[in-house]
Amino acid sequence: MAEQFDVVLSEKTYTPDHSCKQNSWIGDYTKAYDAFLKDPDAFWDRAAKELYWFTPYKKVKEWNYPYARWFIGGKTNITYNCLDRHVMSSRKNKVALIWRGEDDTERIYTYRQLFREVLKVANGLKKLGVKKGDRVCIYMPIVPEQIISMLACARIGAVHSVVFGGFGAAALNSRITGAGAKVVITADATFRRGKTIPLKHIIEEAIINAPTVEYVVVLRRELHQPVEIHSEMEIDFYDMIKDVRPECEPEIMDAEDPLFILYTSGSTGAPKGIVHTCGGYMVGAHYTSKNVLDIKDNDVYWCTADPGWITGHSYVVYGPLSLGATLVVTESTPDFPDPGVYWRMIEEFGVTIFYTAPTAIRMFMKLGEEWPDKSNLSSLRILASVGEPLNPEAFEWFYRVAGKGKCPLIDTWWQTETGMHMVTTTVGEPMMPGFAGKPIPGVVADVVDKDGKPVPPGTGGFLAIKEPWPSMMRSVYNDEERYLKYWHTIPGYYAVGDLAVKNKNGYIMVLGRSDDLIVVAGHNIGTAEVESALVSHQAVAESAVIGKPDPVKGNIIKAFVILRQGHTASDRLKNELLYHVRITLGPIAMPSEIDFVTSLPRTRSGKIMRRVLKAKEMGMDPGDISTLDE
Ligand code: ATP
Ligand code: MG
Repeated sequence: MAEQFDVVLSEKTYTPDHSCKQNSWIGDYTKAYDAFLKDPDAFWDRAAKELYWFTPYKKVKEWNYPYARWFIGGKTNITYNCLDRHVMSSRKNKVALIWRGEDDTERIYTYRQLFREVLKVANGLKKLGVKKGDRVCIYMPIVPEQIISMLACARIGAVHSVVFGGFGAAALNSRITGAGAKVVITADATFRRGKTIPLKHIIEEAIINAPTVEYVVVLRRELHQPVEIHSEMEIDFYDMIKDVRPECEPEIMDAEDPLFILYTSGSTGAPKGIVHTCGGYMVGAHYTSKNVLDIKDNDVYWCTADPGWITGHSYVVYGPLSLGATLVVTESTPDFPDPGVYWRMIEEFGVTIFYTAPTAIRMFMKLGEEWPDKSNLSSLRILASVGEPLNPEAFEWFYRVAGKGKCPLIDTWWQTETGMHMVTTTVGEPMMPGFAGKPIPGVVADVVDKDGKPVPPGTGGFLAIKEPWPSMMRSVYNDEERYLKYWHTIPGYYAVGDLAVKNKNGYIMVLGRSDDLIVVAGHNIGTAEVESALVSHQAVAESAVIGKPDPVKGNIIKAFVILRQGHTASDRLKNELLYHVRITLGPIAMPSEIDFVTSLPRTRSGKIMRRVLKAKEMGMDPGDISTLDE
């Protein structure tokens, strides 16, 4: 990395009402962080003791760089903490899950009902011969049975590998064979934007060369026209649990036993099968759901992520359920049957915490304020974002239009590999648009150069994490070398692969992926900065920038721009955008080329895949595009 990498930092700050901090679980950030620094093991011990262990751990951690073990000797089962505990308490009949289908169908499960379903599916899987340690692939749309299946696997100690329901046969096959799955749980169809999208043929194709698969469990949703079940290998989901009892003791799991394998989004390269454990992951997901998302007993919590991604694992399923929360989950897309559907759901269910992604927020912006303005959003008390940098423009919009300027908006930075939130502004602390915030209590993170030396405020560098944390990945499935790479890139640190900059208050802004770094005439430029500058122009809905090799400057910046409704592409607008970037960031960050486009290549989780744009621009092979959305 070149020495100079200065970043223009805005000082804009929003200070939430005093009561936000007073009433939050985390309380004062500095106090909580100091308590962690004073004695990290005691800090995590307190967090872990909020959960139930069949056998208490003897030691909080063992750190043998770069391998960590947490809660040594502890025995637990995450489903005991997510279900049994609540069923044995006054939460027994509390609503655990409200599911809304695209056609307005609703299904509601109390904790007791969810518990019974999980135990039945757990017994069903046992009947198929699934045992502790076996891998089960879950390839389903967002339906209650998807969540129930995950919990059922965890109940019996089977390792789930959830594959997002939008993937095609090849991507699914590589994940099934990669994990050596014994059983695949799937559905016949998903309902999207008024259409029925059949899934079963994808599974049939995906298991052709997957010799470890013994059974395929099929949830049949299309009851008027049921798909055929090929009984040699297939079984109907509800037939599987027809004669089983809702009684199934939790498998006693060691803290370090694997809980699941999950593939990363594939934004920057081939997806990696990240392995998380029963104990540490549980503690990390629980601790952050409480202290970052601030979930309380009377909240109605809605995270829009698909359980097929890490956000869905940690913050739809495991974290919120471990707190006994009421979850809202939907199969519907945010713009069907019209762009008001999500806002109406917030009003109807009285959602208090709304957690979504920048790609959705930018889409809401593009569709216009009239849609949220039709609904009463006064139940909201906390907004949250994850997945990509939240551009200041998108922050402002979400904060003002959805939160009416009174809800803390927390931009949570973390990864599949980290299992839990790492860097974010906690509830009640001042918020700075564009900045994710500080490392949360429990996490030691910094912005450093390639040798691991912290860089001064205002200078860009690599975001890196210093100390181990309970929900850190334990391995990359069957790829030790890849695991070591995370730890051997920057001496003494876990290298996250993102660029960042810190301001003088220690707030961290994520500038994009290190792989996407653009070096122009010896200056380093992060993609997020230029993209945010473009998005802050009133005509721009979304943008992606890449570096394009240039014989003179090393690279030039090329920008792809999607316009907001009501704006048309023209040379005049191009010049206006260039001028806008010049004024906001300076001449060095000005794109040399701007293309107006109507869509951008994205992962199925909605993230922009700059490497695909770059490969196309240069006529090169884009590499692994299994996660590219059509
Ligand atoms: P791959 O690792 O396969 O390229 P991916 O990194 O997109 O895929 P995930 O683990 O789903 O897979 O995403 C984590 C990444 O998403 C982070 O490293 C970061 O680049 C980005 N990210 C997540 N949250 C934020 C955030 N709040 N601000 C900025 N970037 C974020
Ligand atoms: Mg990644």
